[in-house]
Amino acid sequence: MKNEAFNPFEMAQSQFDKIADTLELNEATKDLLRINLREYHVSIPVRMDDGSTKIFRGFRIQHNDALGPAKGGVRFHPMETIDTVRALAMWMTWKCAVVDIPLGGSTGGVICDPHNLSSHEQELICRGWVRQLARNMGPLNDVPAPDVMTNSQHMLWMLDEYETIYGKKYPGFITGKPVGMGGSLGRTEATGYGLIFTVREALKELNIPPGDTTASVQGFGNVAQHAIELYQQIWGKVVCVSCWDQKDQVSYSFRKMDGVNIEILKGITDRFGGIDKDKASELGYEVLPGDAWIEQEVDILIPAAMENQITKDNVGKISKKVKLIAEGANGPTTPDADNIIKERGIFLIPDMLGNAGGVTCSYFEQVQSNMNYFWDKDEVLGKLDLKMTSAFASVNKLAKEKKLYMRDAAYVIAVGRVAQACKDRGWV
Ligand code: GLU
Repeated sequence: MKNEAFNPFEMAQSQFDKIADTLELNEATKDLLRINLREYHVSIPVRMDDGSTKIFRGFRIQHNDALGPAKGGVRFHPMETIDTVRALAMWMTWKCAVVDIPLGGSTGGVICDPHNLSSHEQELICRGWVRQLARNMGPLNDVPAPDVMTNSQHMLWMLDEYETIYGKKYPGFITGKPVGMGGSLGRTEATGYGLIFTVREALKELNIPPGDTTASVQGFGNVAQHAIELYQQIWGKVVCVSCWDQKDQVSYSFRKMDGVNIEILKGITDRFGGIDKDKASELGYEVLPGDAWIEQEVDILIPAAMENQITKDNVGKISKKVKLIAEGANGPTTPDADNIIKERGIFLIPDMLGNAGGVTCSYFEQVQSNMNYFWDKDEVLGKLDLKMTSAFASVNKLAKEKKLYMRDAAYVIAVGRVAQACKDRGWV
């Protein structure tokens, strides 16, 4: 989104094309999987608080549902583009397949900036989005969830609108609901914690005790905050975090060589993950340019913000000390930068594996909602740990056996499973 010339869908397609050749997929399978199955574009009229009416543009894109109902987030972002949503929908298909859950892939979005919208206006956008798309989504065909700048309150408004339209209760229509309203304990933590479960496994593979490592993190939203929390619990030290400053419209990095204090930072952060730079500076944090997170002399880099962040322009700044990159965001690394990371032999936990904890817990939420019986948090997180650990083990095993880069190994497993499901259904 940062760079006009960057097209995430082209990037997703080029990643797919490479694997389609490796797997020797037939032409029909390639043709089916490199384009999304269904795309919906909607206009949402909203009566604003000042009495004017504004039309918001929204999308829902279903990439593939051969393995089960399509599944994926809905994001609110002022720079949202159709090609970003297309790419995210495709990546959701691979993500569900790589962790082996019975779901397909989709993603939606609305072009809007929640920073400048009242809570009531956001509620109307949520309800309007569902009104436009209710016929094309549902517990058995396409299940939304939170993503960038959407949260459990947005999910509840969407659910309420859907249930009002159909006059029945459908708790499996959406995931990421508030706990007590059909949500799962652990869902908020799931993406960040899931990432660190895979970091822990990667460090075992690299033979490095987590307590001997340092990390630099891009982002300070839900994924980054929970990743930092769990990483610190396994004794890792985060020395730098970076985030977007809404007031200045630029990013800053915040460095503390003896380790950032997550609770203190959370106390000076807005609800979108923006850290107050004046307060951080008073608290002894060095305030550095946004890109500084990538050039820190740390063992682990964790991009956990947006797509298109590690590019050919800044990949050269990655320190020689870095041994592991764990992608918490979707599509943070462009293909050129990815080639350089691969050549340098840095161990990579690719996005489709690293950030799959969110959708895995969404799947657990659906299971709990459907049986109307809810597990305690330790049970949810224990099951999440098992799923993430076993997905990591399969990808890592294939990577070692076939001498593949971790991203390619994850793709081979995911695309292979989806292609097989399409074939078994008689589609190709
Ligand atoms: N938006 C999240 C992701 O990109 C979660 C999707 C879901 O839970 O369905 O993985």
